[in-house]
Amino acid sequence: MLLEISDLSSHYGRILALKGIDLRIEQGELVALVGANGAGKTTLLRCLSGVQPLSGGAIRFDGADISRMSAEGRVAAGIAQVPEGRQVFGPLSVEDNLRLGAYRRRGKGVAADMERMYALFPILRDKRHLPAGTLSGGQQQMLAIARALMGAPRLLLLDEPSMGLAPLLVAEIFQTVQDLKRQGTTIFLVEQNATAALAIADRGYVLETGAVVMEGTGAELLADDKVQAAYLGL
Ligand code: ATP
Repeated sequence: MLLEISDLSSHYGRILALKGIDLRIEQGELVALVGANGAGKTTLLRCLSGVQPLSGGAIRFDGADISRMSAEGRVAAGIAQVPEGRQVFGPLSVEDNLRLGAYRRRGKGVAADMERMYALFPILRDKRHLPAGTLSGGQQQMLAIARALMGAPRLLLLDEPSMGLAPLLVAEIFQTVQDLKRQGTTIFLVEQNATAALAIADRGYVLETGAVVMEGTGAELLADDKVQAAYLGL
């Protein structure tokens, strides 16, 4: 087991935002977390990346309790988050953005990984000398994912990668996420686009008002009447 969240709760002041969350991710799995606006998806990611304190429960990563580890420490341990809204360094070139993603590594395999990123995202190679801020929204999303991967993470956290993208680009991003999984990356995919996320996920969790209300394989959840009614608009 790579990640194991048990009985996690978290507050904003007196507001209980997450309660009794149990969730696990095995090495190599693609796990989706879906839920409506305000369900607590972002809060759970904040708990994982270490910027939001837990009020109860625990997070174990590769067997070690990281519940109180700093955000820095978690990045060093191999947890990389691609934040919602991309947030690339606009004035820097595409290539410099990628290099920054590898700043913790001592050159080992960085050049090879840069090539791997350009193979995954050919458009980034074409635009490698251009300021990242000149890329389209979809291209910036790809760059944000590639930059996170340059850190050679053991777990990739994706926060709403399809947000604000045109349908064609959404399909492309989900295709890429699937390719990454096939290449062995362990991925936690947080999405409001439940259909697309569950279609590619090994397993998924449905979050509602701060609690996990359902879990299963991606296919099981996609076929579930309640999930269809609540999240898939069917
Ligand atoms: P979205 O898709 O809009 O990001 P979400 O599922 O990620 O939604 P969260 O942002 O995690 O949901 O919010 C969970 C709950 O916590 C919501 O009820 C929200 O109003 C509340 N909340 C979020 N941030 C804060 C905050 N800084 N202070 C107080 N309450 C907050």
